[in-house]
Amino acid sequence: MFNNSFNLGVSISALLVCIVNLIYTFIERRTDKTQNRIFISIICILIVNSISGMITGIYGDNPGESGYIYQVFQVSKYAYFVTHTALCPLFFYYVCCLSFVSNKMKSMKAKLIFMPFFITEILAVTNPLTHYVWSYKDGEGFHREWGEFLIYIAALIYYILSFVILGRTWKVISGKRKAALVFFFALVGVGVFLQLIKKDLKVEVLAEAVGFTGVLIAVENEDDRIDFGMGFYNRAALRLDIGSCLRNRRDLHIIIMHIHNYDLIDRIVGDEDTNIIADILSDYLKSITKRYHIYVPDKDKIVMTFYSDVYSDADRIAERIAERFDETWIYKDYTVQFNVSVILADLPDQITSTSELFYMIDNPVPADNEKKVLKGEDLQFIMRRRAVESALSRGFTENSYEVYYQPTYHINRRLHGAEALIRMHDGQLGNLYPDEFIPVAEQCGLIDDIDDFVLEEVCRFVSTGIPQKCGIDNINVNLSVIQCMRPHFVERINEIVERYNVEKSFINFEITETIAANDYEILSGTIQRLKEEGFLFSMDDYGTGYSNVSAIFSLNLDVIKIDKSLLWGAEKSELGMVILENTIRMICQMKKKILVEGVETLEQIRLLEKLGVDFLQGYYFSKPIPKDDFIKHIEKASAAVR
Ligand code: C2E
Ligand code: CA
Ligand code: CA
Repeated sequence: MFNNSFNLGVSISALLVCIVNLIYTFIERRTDKTQNRIFISIICILIVNSISGMITGIYGDNPGESGYIYQVFQVSKYAYFVTHTALCPLFFYYVCCLSFVSNKMKSMKAKLIFMPFFITEILAVTNPLTHYVWSYKDGEGFHREWGEFLIYIAALIYYILSFVILGRTWKVISGKRKAALVFFFALVGVGVFLQLIKKDLKVEVLAEAVGFTGVLIAVENEDDRIDFGMGFYNRAALRLDIGSCLRNRRDLHIIIMHIHNYDLIDRIVGDEDTNIIADILSDYLKSITKRYHIYVPDKDKIVMTFYSDVYSDADRIAERIAERFDETWIYKDYTVQFNVSVILADLPDQITSTSELFYMIDNPVPADNEKKVLKGEDLQFIMRRRAVESALSRGFTENSYEVYYQPTYHINRRLHGAEALIRMHDGQLGNLYPDEFIPVAEQCGLIDDIDDFVLEEVCRFVSTGIPQKCGIDNINVNLSVIQCMRPHFVERINEIVERYNVEKSFINFEITETIAANDYEILSGTIQRLKEEGFLFSMDDYGTGYSNVSAIFSLNLDVIKIDKSLLWGAEKSELGMVILENTIRMICQMKKKILVEGVETLEQIRLLEKLGVDFLQGYYFSKPIPKDDFIKHIEKASAAVR
């Protein structure tokens, strides 16, 4: 039924499909990736196979015993088997590349995986001598031998292996690619099956050629992965590729660049059509690695991937990049200086999920970091930060927050007040201290809730009347500067305190002196309004920054809290002593009350007595303690006075 001319037509169709695929691939210049090259090889194999098919179609399987036609037939069959044997292994290799499975051929496992291919290929190559794969008998013509059966088995193995790899990577393959690969598998399966059961129906090569057209359209075409105009991969491609690498346990070095002053440079040199990375940095980036290892997940972020089996010197590359960014760039008539942080992280050691990678990409890097390249231990902070952020957000539902109290004393060692200090007991991370989580809370916007929580807790405590009974004059509550800048801040504070019917002068807010000059106006207005309401104010951590002294004193605060570092510094050096003495003298002359924190020893108290401070706070009296312990502490202290 399926005569030679039918099969000739099928083979010509396959050839045409392959040639179109090949031409299109070259027109679109999809030739530089390993993946592209395998694709081209597969198409070339299919071209050879369809030509063999055409020759069989023209002359049949028994074209005589000698002469020119006989020679052509022999060569074409030989070419067919030598190349076709490589088809499925190559497709398997293609899937490996697509899924970022390591292509390191040195390992034992890799050698083992390609063993069936080596064996069957040797059979095909040596067939003229051995005739294990096919033979040509006088009178009968072409004959399949057991070797061909082995080739089919080997092909089946690679077919299944490809399936397994794809299955493992399935979740991180884009929908379009999935459809194309299923299409390909189904077509090839049907083609091979038909040819197996109906020997004279030679549709396998056509099925493969058409299947690969699907692959060309959906997989080789990367329009959805490439950032238009820039030629680099986009955020979605990065997410998918890193997902594949993680799933297939591929080792990877990742270099992340944060361009801190992108907007500034864009404003200076840019216009509507300018893309800073494409216009200024593109050539430089491409001189470091191939374009398909470069991703631009955000306009001011660049990511480069280096496979560990190829690059052992990612460290040096990162250093070189950082050094290059220390220098300037020439663009049009401008000289541009980028301010860039370079991060070097390893997958899967330091980055264990795509969300961790995007956390590193999307979150600010400490800009004051002295190091050129952040790597290794430097990255712990990012991981830890991430964990802290999740702890913060689950904190309120899991009741992790608790307010501790640290008493303050008059210089004559009589109880004076207390400072409320937040603590966190997280189910996963254990006890957390505010020095770590307050800055994170400020960044992720949870600081308002935390400060509200502290103020409410303090008000609830004060409303019990216990602190008053024990001789406490007021309780200090820390405010973050960010919070003071919020609209309706004063109203919110008032609302909370009034709800608990607490005397406003019982609450003493502590603010730090790290006030940026331009924020100063708003802040002083807020403080003035709260002071008029009756609240007290302390200046916290005095002496740590380089403060604008006159500005601070014009805020008219009630107490100045001298930072513990000044006290401790005074014990270490003569200069430190001079600084402490003069700081205290100056504040005294300004007629302000002085509290010194970090008091740990009797000697320190004697010194401070001499210098004439008003209040003391420190471990000498008590560490910050939970409310119940604090109540016991102040009850004891007040009983001792009586
Ligand atoms: P801070 O306001 O300067 O708080 C004083 C810190 O010094 C406390 O650390 C306290 O435990 C510690 N300290 C007190 N006396 C001594 C001493 O004698 N020796 C030593 N070595 N340390 C002493 P803590 O509780 O870890 O708080 C750290 C910072 O976290 C605070 O510094 C404050 O800036 C911030 N913070 C704490 N609670 C809150 C809060 O409720 N809201 C806000 N916005 N910030 C808070
Ligand atoms: Ca404080
Ligand atoms: Ca302090």
